[in-house]
Amino acid sequence: MSDSIGEKGKIIIIVAPSGTGKSTLIKSLKEDFRDLHWSVSFTTRPMREGEVDGKHYFYISRDEFLKKKDQGDFIEWAEVHGNFYGTSLGFVSSKVNNGYSLLFDLDVQGADNMKRVFGDEAKAIFIAPPSIEALEERLRGRGTDSEDVIKLRLENAKGELSRRDDYDFVVVNDDLSKAYSDLKAVVEGILQS
Ligand code: ADP
Ligand code: 5GP
Repeated sequence: MSDSIGEKGKIIIIVAPSGTGKSTLIKSLKEDFRDLHWSVSFTTRPMREGEVDGKHYFYISRDEFLKKKDQGDFIEWAEVHGNFYGTSLGFVSSKVNNGYSLLFDLDVQGADNMKRVFGDEAKAIFIAPPSIEALEERLRGRGTDSEDVIKLRLENAKGELSRRDDYDFVVVNDDLSKAYSDLKAVVEGILQS
């Protein structure tokens, strides 16, 4: 059991280029795996419509972020698409040490840093789009980002896609329900290990 006293929780990292469908897949994971807690990161990115402070992220200013970084509050942090994102050391340690398994949504830099800190204790699942064209279509279709942001995310995606085989598992998000059933099987396997 992931929440039994005395046993450490599992660290499950979902990593994917922006627009791949990571949030869509994670939403289903959260519904199906009620014991899996969500690692709430800190970010300087503006809040999107529908997001809630303290639930999706803790939204802070650049100055506050840099102060926390200097205080050593982050296990890892990265500048992604022009904004800062950081994983809170206090939040993660208290959850994992109390036996709660945690789900992370990180970029490749974050996933690499978590693997560096937690080694094989952290399992990273790379979600890949079927093609770069499909990714572009999804980013535009989502309608949440400006043209400049979409271009930056696509440019970054090219580098991130070259890393797809560097993690513990790969799931291709072509057909959404097939991708979700593959992802669910991987997560079940990790939680039972
Ligand atoms: P991410 O969190 O990786 O940035 P999202 O989950 O926001 O990506 O998905 C980006 C867009 O692509 C959304 O509009 C979503 O509905 C759509 N999408 C997700 N998965 C698929 C899929 N398998 N096929 C087609 N569209 C998808
Ligand atoms: P978004 O702005 O779309 O929510 O996230 C942009 C990117 O930042 C995503 O690739 C997401 O995985 C990444 N991200 C979110 N939180 C963190 C974090 O705490 N650390 C790192 N390194 N990346 C993060």
